[in-house]
Amino acid sequence: MSNMMEERVLAVRHWTDRLFSFTTTRQAGFRFRNGQFTMTGIEVDGRPLMRAYSVVSPNYEDTLEFYSIKVPDGPLTSRLQHLKEGDPIIVGRKATGTLVIDNLRAGRNLYLLGTGTGVAPFLSIVRDPETYERFENVVLVHGCRQVAELAYGERMVTALRDHEFLADEIADKLLYYPTVTREPFRNQGRISHLLDTGKLFEDLGLPALDREQDRAMLCGSPQMMVDLKARLIGLGFEEGNHGEAGDFVLEKAFAER
Ligand SMILES: Cc1cc2nc3c(=O)[nH]c(=O)nc-3n(C[C@H](O)[C@H](O)[C@H](O)COP(=O)(O)OP(=O)(O)OC[C@H]3O[C@@H](n4cnc5c(N)ncnc54)[C@H](O)[C@@H]3O)c2cc1C
Repeated sequence: MSNMMEERVLAVRHWTDRLFSFTTTRQAGFRFRNGQFTMTGIEVDGRPLMRAYSVVSPNYEDTLEFYSIKVPDGPLTSRLQHLKEGDPIIVGRKATGTLVIDNLRAGRNLYLLGTGTGVAPFLSIVRDPETYERFENVVLVHGCRQVAELAYGERMVTALRDHEFLADEIADKLLYYPTVTREPFRNQGRISHLLDTGKLFEDLGLPALDREQDRAMLCGSPQMMVDLKARLIGLGFEEGNHGEAGDFVLEKAFAER
């Protein structure tokens, strides 16, 4: 268990029948960079059952927060969805991942493009003061099928606009664009479609994507990654990683099994 820590669940909130979030205690020694993920799970039949989870809470907070899917027959989440306050939870000591702002070259606008639970790492990044030192505008785009699936991200952004220290800093800099594909809503359509038609930029009052000025982070389904990566590459954007900063970075929000 040396590479794992046992934490306690502090609170659980269910957002839809497919989505929930939970907060846990955080051992002082656990370090991570905003946007990273770690292995998280529970003990099943005496053995840890762990899956990758993005840390939603920013790294200056005393507690950890995670946002989770409920896969009906998923080995972990069929159980994890029944978590309650006081339950033990295992968190890996080593956080990792490419969605960190240091992996991006300097730029003007930072586009955080996430679908489903892929918004999770971005909710940490938008609460990092350094993000606003590095970029003039931070555009958080969250795509979901249904309006109810936006609730968690919306609540986080609303809380951030009232944040004791960050509210002034982000007031003009954070642009939030939720969009839905399967229900009527003020913004509709897939992120790829909103980029192709230019509707996203029109609605936000920003110029179309430009490799010289814009940077992007992608987190969503494997198919969404393929779609958006192809568009960025087509515009001349170069992918970054730990070794070399680039114009965009990506992380799958989950792997197909
Ligand atoms: C880098 C990384 C970060 C991740 N971060 C998160 C996170 O912050 N929150 C989270 O809920 N999951 C996240 N995941 C997915 C997570 O690791 C598990 O797959 C998920 O918790 C389901 O576990 P399971 O054992 O119940 O089912 P699994 O056997 O792991 O998955 C079963 C199937 O469910 C579907 N699925 C799994 N996860 C998702 C998802 N998040 N959204 C939609 N469909 C999914 C896939 O089709 C998958 O094949 C992440 C995955 C990776 C690779």
